[in-house]
Amino acid sequence: MARSRRSRPDACPGAWRRHDAADGALARFRPVGGAIDAVELRLLAGAAAIGGSPLELTSRGSWQVRGLAGRTADDLADALRADRPDALLDTRGRDVPCGLLASPRSTRLDEVSAQVAGALRGREDVPGRLLVALEDRVDGDVSGVASQTLEVRKATPSTGDVSGQGADITVVLTPDTAALLLDGPRGVVDTGLRHPDAAALALAAVDAFTARRGSAWRVRELDEAARDALVADLRDRTTPPVGVLSSIPVGTLTPGPADPTALGPRADGTLEVLPRLGELDLAAVTALVEILGEPDATLRATPWRTLVLRGLADPGAAAASLEGLLETDPASRWRGLSACVGAPRCAKSHADVRGDLAAAVDSGHAGGTVRQHWVGCERACGTPGGRVAVIEALDPDQPLGYDKHAAGDRQQRGPYRTVVRSGRVTG
Ligand code: SF4
Repeated sequence: MARSRRSRPDACPGAWRRHDAADGALARFRPVGGAIDAVELRLLAGAAAIGGSPLELTSRGSWQVRGLAGRTADDLADALRADRPDALLDTRGRDVPCGLLASPRSTRLDEVSAQVAGALRGREDVPGRLLVALEDRVDGDVSGVASQTLEVRKATPSTGDVSGQGADITVVLTPDTAALLLDGPRGVVDTGLRHPDAAALALAAVDAFTARRGSAWRVRELDEAARDALVADLRDRTTPPVGVLSSIPVGTLTPGPADPTALGPRADGTLEVLPRLGELDLAAVTALVEILGEPDATLRATPWRTLVLRGLADPGAAAASLEGLLETDPASRWRGLSACVGAPRCAKSHADVRGDLAAAVDSGHAGGTVRQHWVGCERACGTPGGRVAVIEALDPDQPLGYDKHAAGDRQQRGPYRTVVRSGRVTG
């Protein structure tokens, strides 16, 4: 059963269900696999400009717009749905099905994602907080135990990307089958369950969870007995039934890295770029729309807050056209840096953390090898999972050096303090 007892539904914002923030309504748009076309990108950027904020990427590969009036947000959601009826996971009326991630470079998963999204859209028994990930490791070396374990631990994007995002249900496509990983007390682990149909396996896992979840929103909230029962249920819920036969031994698939960012152009026609702090301004959007004019070009937001362009005739030329607007260099100092919204958009913030972070990068004091998350107060919103240094603005009304939690790895550093965290990836 669920370890938590809740009577209320989750309150995740969606396309038609907004969160009322200090700067107006906040709407979150969840295209399947983070993919949007040029028309949708223009619509989102236009709405963001009206709201007075940049277009934002979220840690679930969604697109977020702030400062909207309620009517504007409705019109925007309707326009997106009109452009491509199957683009969004949300539907009017039942706004928030669960999140759905997919390896952004994989064309093999496009059909699988569409099938899973189509089956989930509109379901009322699926909590909005649930996160499902579909990963493509078909090109990875999965032929032997030792090499597989080593390969996956080294985790390049081709051998592990969305599996490192702390999803409740992760289905990994391998050369000969699909494998199921589930979240739990020890993080995301390989259940050993295999099935030839990746979409069927993902949907069976969702069904088994919803049947057992009680008041739980996430798989990790189930106690050990309920989680074991969920796995047992899965053997009966799929046709053909899930099994354990595969060239990949049970338990040897491990999740990819928390941050699999791989910026720059690739010979396979893809280009990964990084909007600083996950924010896109109109100039960047205009340049992206231009690239999307290529016949086969597509665009996806990743849960590590980058963008992946696929189907490019000349990824190097596309990277050159985005220079100065988005980070394209694999050695960019902005890689691994994130921040909460801070002042002035959050009333609780003690500082303009985004401005301060930009100044620190410019002066060479931030960026490089250490992942950092800058926050305006001790709530530390948006702190990513994995090992990260949280740079927290201090209350200016308190004497410098005040730190009621001071201990161990905490340091005083001017108007900010640093807290090193090694939290799990929560998705
Ligand atoms: S961490 Fe504090 S300042 Fe930053 S968004 Fe959250 S509440 Fe606001």
